[in-house]
Amino acid sequence: MSQRSNAISTTCAYCGVGCGIRMQPQDTGYVAHGEETHPANLGRMCVKGSALGETLGLEGRLLQPQIHQRPVSWSRALDAVADGLRATIDEYGPQAVAFYGSGQLLTEDYYVANKLMKGFIGASNMDTNSRLCMASAVMGYKRAFGADAVPCDYQDIELADCVILTGSNAAWAHPVMYQRLVQAKQARPAMRIVVIDPRPTATCDIADLHLPLRPGSDAALFCGALNTMAAQDKLDNAYLVQHTVGTEETLAAAAQWTLAKTADFCGLSAAQLETFYQYIGDSERLLTLYSMGINQSSSGVDKCNAIINLHLAMGHIGRAGCGPFSITGQPNAMGGREVGGLANQLAAHMGFTPQDIDRVSRFWHSDRVATAPGLNAVDLFQAIESGQIKAVWIMGTNPLVSLPDADRVRAGLAQCPLVIVSDLMHDTDTTRAAHICLPALGWGEKNGTVTNSTRTVSRQRSFLPAPGEAKPDWWIISQVAQRLGFAEAFDYQHPAEIFREHAQLSGFENHGQRAFDISGLAQLSNAQWDAMAPIQWPVNDRHPQGTTRLFTDGKFYHPDSKARLVAIAPRLPINRPSNAYPLIMNTGRIRDQWHTMTRTGKSARLMQHCSEPFAQFHPDDCPTAQAGDLLRVSSTHGWLLLRAQPDPQQPRGSLFVPMHWNSQFSQQARVDALIEAHTDPLSGQPESKQMPVRIQRWDAVWQAEVFLRGNASAPPPVAYWSRITQPDVTHFTLADTTIPDDWNAWLDQQFGTGQWVCQSARIGDDGFNLLAWKDQKLQLAFYAHRALPSLDRQAIVSAFTQCPDNAQARLSLLAGRAHGGKSPSGTIVCSCFNVGETAISEALQQGCHDVAQLGKTLQCGTNCGSCIPELKKFIARQREALVAGETP
Ligand code: SF4
Repeated sequence: MSQRSNAISTTCAYCGVGCGIRMQPQDTGYVAHGEETHPANLGRMCVKGSALGETLGLEGRLLQPQIHQRPVSWSRALDAVADGLRATIDEYGPQAVAFYGSGQLLTEDYYVANKLMKGFIGASNMDTNSRLCMASAVMGYKRAFGADAVPCDYQDIELADCVILTGSNAAWAHPVMYQRLVQAKQARPAMRIVVIDPRPTATCDIADLHLPLRPGSDAALFCGALNTMAAQDKLDNAYLVQHTVGTEETLAAAAQWTLAKTADFCGLSAAQLETFYQYIGDSERLLTLYSMGINQSSSGVDKCNAIINLHLAMGHIGRAGCGPFSITGQPNAMGGREVGGLANQLAAHMGFTPQDIDRVSRFWHSDRVATAPGLNAVDLFQAIESGQIKAVWIMGTNPLVSLPDADRVRAGLAQCPLVIVSDLMHDTDTTRAAHICLPALGWGEKNGTVTNSTRTVSRQRSFLPAPGEAKPDWWIISQVAQRLGFAEAFDYQHPAEIFREHAQLSGFENHGQRAFDISGLAQLSNAQWDAMAPIQWPVNDRHPQGTTRLFTDGKFYHPDSKARLVAIAPRLPINRPSNAYPLIMNTGRIRDQWHTMTRTGKSARLMQHCSEPFAQFHPDDCPTAQAGDLLRVSSTHGWLLLRAQPDPQQPRGSLFVPMHWNSQFSQQARVDALIEAHTDPLSGQPESKQMPVRIQRWDAVWQAEVFLRGNASAPPPVAYWSRITQPDVTHFTLADTTIPDDWNAWLDQQFGTGQWVCQSARIGDDGFNLLAWKDQKLQLAFYAHRALPSLDRQAIVSAFTQCPDNAQARLSLLAGRAHGGKSPSGTIVCSCFNVGETAISEALQQGCHDVAQLGKTLQCGTNCGSCIPELKKFIARQREALVAGETP
C-alpha cells in the first residue's frame, strides 16, 4: 500500500475512471489528493474527487437498523429480514424474491449478494443499477468477443491517432480521463479528436470535428463509416479472414449506408461525413470511447456492435492506441459484471448453460443454483408492481429516482409486501418506501475492491471508523444468509476471504475459456490483499502481472476463437416527438454532481456550479421563457419544474435536463419520472435519453431565496423549491403562483417560538427582504421579489457564522450584499478555487485575454481543468460583446 505519512491510499467513490486517491488527515478532517502511482489518474483528480473530504460528515446518515421507521437492534432487524424472505419463499417460491444492487457496492459485497440469491435462494432475480448505465456495452462485447471484456487501457488515449467520443460528455462525466486526452492533444496536435453528440458539450472544446447528429442515429454513422472504408479498400482483410466471422453479412447490411443516406438519416452534411471518414481512413490507430449516449437506447447493443464492427474490420483492436472502449459510469460497475450482478449472468462470467450451472454448483457446494436468467431492472420493478415479486432487497441505490417511469416504480413499490433497503442515508426516496432499513457503511468506512473501466482491480480502503451501528454490506448479507440456513457457505469473517473465493471461482475450470480470471490473486493473504496494488485482469499463471490490453493475439472467447461482426439495421429511438410533445428531452450528468446527489449534494462547493435543476433549450423552442424564469417540462408520464436556461447553441427541437435532482433537493425535478420505460430487447437497458416533452414558461408571481440556520426539518410549502445544504445553513430557492397559507406555520416549525429581532425592507414595488435574529445570531435571511433576486450568497452564508457587528453591515446584509460594496461572486465557474463569474468578468475587463492569464490571475482552471471549456466560452462571449460595442 502506498502511504505518505499517515495518508491512506484508496479509490475514488465516483465514476468508472477509478482514480486512485490519498486521503490525508488534517486537523479538521481529510483532504483528497491524486495518487501519482495509480495507473488510472497518475496523480490527477477532478473536482468531485477533490471534494470527497467535504462529504464525510454524518448528517443525514442512517445509523441504526429500523423496522417501520422505528430503531431496532441488529439481531431483530436481521431476524425480520430472514423471516420475511423465508416466509415469502415458502409461500410463493424463490422467484418471488429479488435483490437490486448497485455499482456503488464493493466487489466483495456484490459477490456475497449474488451467491445468496443465485446459489442458495435459487432464483436469478438479482439485478443492479448498472443495468441503467452499461448493460448494452456488456451485450455488445459478448456478441462480438464472446466475453464481456473491454480490450483497452487508458494509455491508448495517449497513443491513438484518432479518438472518437460518441455518446460521451467525458469533460464532465469522466473528467480525469478527458484531461488525459487534453494533454495528449496538446503534446501531439496532429492527433484527431471527433465528438459525436447532438449537443455542443464541454467535450467539444478540444474537438477537431463535432458531429451534431440526430439523437439516436449513431449506428447509421458507424455503418456508413464501415461501408465507406470498404469502398475505399481500407479494411484489414487479412485480419477479417483470420480472426473474425460475419464479414459478408455485415458488409452487405452496411452497403446501403451510402454517404447521402447516412447524411440524411443522421441529419449531417455530406462534407461533415467525408471529413469524419477521412480521419478514420487516415488513422493507423483508432480509439472509440463510448458511454451512456450509446448505451441508454432501445437499440444500444446494435450501436455498440456497429462501433465494434468498424474496429474489427479495420484491425483497430488488440493494438496500442486502438479499440472500442466502453467507459463505465459507476465506480464498481465492472466489479458487478465480474461477480454476476446482472440477472442474465450466473457468476464469474458464466451464464446459465448446463455446464456453467454444474460448475458453479460444485464450487459453491449447493444444489439450489438458479438455472435460468432472472428479471432485469425494469422488468423486476414491473414484476413488483404486478405482485409477482413479493419481497425485494434494495442495496445502495435509489431506484425511485433513477429508474424510468419512476413514479410508477414508486407506486409499485408501495404495494410490495416486504421492502428491505440497505443504505447510508436515512431519508432517500427509496428508504421512504422501505419496511426495513439497514445501515450500511459508506465510502471511507468500508474495505474491499472495485474494478474500473480498464479492468483494473483497486483496493478501496477504510480510513474512518464505522459510525453508529452501520455495518459492511457483505456482513449484513452473510448474517441473513446464516439465518436462512446457509451458515457454512456464508461464514465470512473478513472481506479478503470473500475476495479469495471470488478469485478462485474465476479460475475454476477456466482453461482460458473465460476472460475474467483473477486466479493469480486467489492465494493472497489478508495482509497481501490489504496492500494489493492496482492490477488489470486477467491475472493468472499466464499473466501473473495482469494484462494491459486484450486480444493482442487475435483470439477471442467464442468457441472458434474468432470475433463476430454483427449485421446491423440502424433505427431511430422508439420515442418520437409528436404535435403534443414536440421536443426531445436528453438527460445527462453535470460537471460537479454524481448520481442522485446523496453524496455530492453534501458539498456546498459542488452545489455552487449548478445550484438548481435546470433545462437548457434553444430560445426559439420557447420564446416566452427567459433566463431566470421557471419552466414546466411535461411528458406523457409527468412534469417537472426547472430553471429555464435558453441557449442558442442548444439544437432546436431538443432540450437537456440533468439527471441528478431527487426529492430531497428539489420539489419536482426527478427527471426519470418523465421517461417511458422502453428498453433494448437484448440488454434490457432503458432508452433514457430520448423522451418527447413539451415546455412552457411557468408564471411564478414571486420568487425568493431563504437562508435558515441549521438543517430545515421540512421543505417549504411552495410549488417550487430547490435546496442547497451549506455547513450549518440551509438555502432554499423558492417560487409560487400564490402566497401559501401555511408559510408562517412552516417558519414556526423550523424555529419554534421565542424572542426574535426582525429587520425588514420593502424593495421597489415587488421586493421584500427580511433578516431575523435571536440571541444576536442570524437565524433567517429572506429575499423575495417578482423575479429571482440578485444576491451575494456567499456573504449571506458567512453572516451565519460571522455576525455583522455594525448597523451598516446589517443594512448591506438586508440588501443581500457584502459590506463594502463588493460585487456578488455570481455563479461559481471554478469549483476548485471558488472563482465566480464576477471575478472572471472583471479580470477579462482588466486585460486578461486567455485561459492561461485567467489562471495566473485567479487560479481558475489550474487544478482539475474541468472549468476550462466554460472559461473559454466566457472569453468568447466577452469578445463578442466588445465587438458588438456592448458593456460585457
Ligand atoms: Fe473520481 Fe471520476 Fe473524478 Fe477520477 S474522474 S476523481 S474517479 S469522479
